[in-house]
Amino acid sequence: MTTSISWVARAEAVAPEVRPFIDGAHRDPRSDKVFVDTGPRDGSPLVEVPNGDATDIDAAVAAARTAFDDGRWSHRSPRSRRRVLLAFADAIEAHRDELALLESLDVGKPIGDALRADVPGCANTIRWYAEAIDKMYDEVAPTGPDAVALVRREPVGVVGAVIPWNYPLILAAWKIGPALAAGNTCVLKPAEQSPLSALLLGSLAVEAGLPDGVLNVVPGDGPSAGEPLGRHRKVDAVTFTGSTEVGRRFLMYAAESNLKEVALELGGKSPQVVFADCSDLDAAAKAIAWGIFYNAGQTCHAGSRLVVEASIEDELLEGVARTAAMLQPGDPLDPGTKMGAIVSAEQHARVSRYLDLGRQEADVRVGGAAAHPVDGGFYIEPTVFVGVDNRMQIARDEIFGPVLTVHRFDGHPDRAVALGNDTDYGLAAAVWTSDVTRAHRVARELRVGTVWVNTFDIADLSTPFGGYKASGFGGRDRSLHAFEHLTQLKTTWINVGR
Ligand code: NAP
Ligand code: MG
Repeated sequence: MTTSISWVARAEAVAPEVRPFIDGAHRDPRSDKVFVDTGPRDGSPLVEVPNGDATDIDAAVAAARTAFDDGRWSHRSPRSRRRVLLAFADAIEAHRDELALLESLDVGKPIGDALRADVPGCANTIRWYAEAIDKMYDEVAPTGPDAVALVRREPVGVVGAVIPWNYPLILAAWKIGPALAAGNTCVLKPAEQSPLSALLLGSLAVEAGLPDGVLNVVPGDGPSAGEPLGRHRKVDAVTFTGSTEVGRRFLMYAAESNLKEVALELGGKSPQVVFADCSDLDAAAKAIAWGIFYNAGQTCHAGSRLVVEASIEDELLEGVARTAAMLQPGDPLDPGTKMGAIVSAEQHARVSRYLDLGRQEADVRVGGAAAHPVDGGFYIEPTVFVGVDNRMQIARDEIFGPVLTVHRFDGHPDRAVALGNDTDYGLAAAVWTSDVTRAHRVARELRVGTVWVNTFDIADLSTPFGGYKASGFGGRDRSLHAFEHLTQLKTTWINVGR
């Protein structure tokens, strides 16, 4: 295919900027350590990246602190911030091909997905918060005639944003979009597996008119760069997406340093509950397959547990298997590919261990093995395990790969809800039924941040995203609610008594 040849050729010519972006420019790193950024497409090294450490974080936080304290951004009118952020969104779109290619190379995701979903998702998020910020009003409290009490939202200050590798552009935007719109300054630490697109965002923002020091990006691994950011006393808030284990650490860092605000978006083990009265099993099967296999299952809200009424299990699974067959892993740089690579050799090994475990604990219905569309790359077939007991490890752990476990239930809604809720996580769920009362009741009883009814993974920036239980803490991404943990409320009480 000629188009795929052109992406491979472009990939060979790519020369990304890897130096930390601090105070308005890419600067030589202070740390003399580097790490190798590997491309999961074929397992070969893409580029060496400076492994930012506490000294680089210090420099970035100092720039962000000065930029916040002198008001070069926070004191601007909302309309002026809006104008700059709209230009930033335009710049992201103008660099669509470059950003999509970096994202695909770094993460192994299909170039088509990066072009159609990740880059527009990033630009649209920045644009949405830009558009929102000059339409928000503060409050006047009902104090009576002798006082005017203003309750105003102020930016929290310097925000540390730490993100994972599964959706680097979109998650960067979910963090920096509302943070910058609200008037904060930021230090963004991308995951070591996927630093390239975030580093380009830094320079695009400044070219679009963002003042120096307002957005800083420091590559580096978790212990080297993430921890000093989490512990920094001049950082006012941290917004994090990643594993529950590392999320806990950020709470400790905050507790042991300056009690910065912490908002955590963590893992999931989302159930898809399908009742026999589901009116369109074919549509449900497609959505269930896409809901676990999209992005090779490396999605925090992936619908990884299918809770299905016994009488329709066979028919539903036939549909899931049909869609899975269309989603066989392929070359991420081929525009026709629907499922790409697993992000790293480590993650591939981790998912493979769950495949071994699944073969011992349950029965394979679909897939179950590694795939090899590109030599040297990290790929896994879409996999479905049936006959799964919810106590099995494959049903309890977040596998973060293209692996669906199937749990049969007898049709009683209480049993489905109990199964759905029997997990430490609470990020998302779906219920498929044509009974509207049952849909509402089950949706209410599932202890998760998002419930879809007769659909899956449909979202809009206007709806908040985050988790109950071990899936989240301290705030929501997306929607106007994201401003809640990125701003402080200030009361100003003015005596106007006689
Ligand atoms: P992770 O280890 O939680 O990493 C997320 C971010 O935290 C990365 O930027 C990471 O940096 C950083 N980090 C790691 N250790 C740190 C530490 N001790 N102190 C400060 N920062 C630290 O997640 P992961 O390695 O990407 O994936 C592991 C598992 O997390 C997955 O298998 C999946 O279960 C879950 N996960 C969840 C989501 C989600 O969207 N909720 C996304 C990705 C992964 P480095 O990676 O550079 O070390
Ligand atoms: Mg990488």
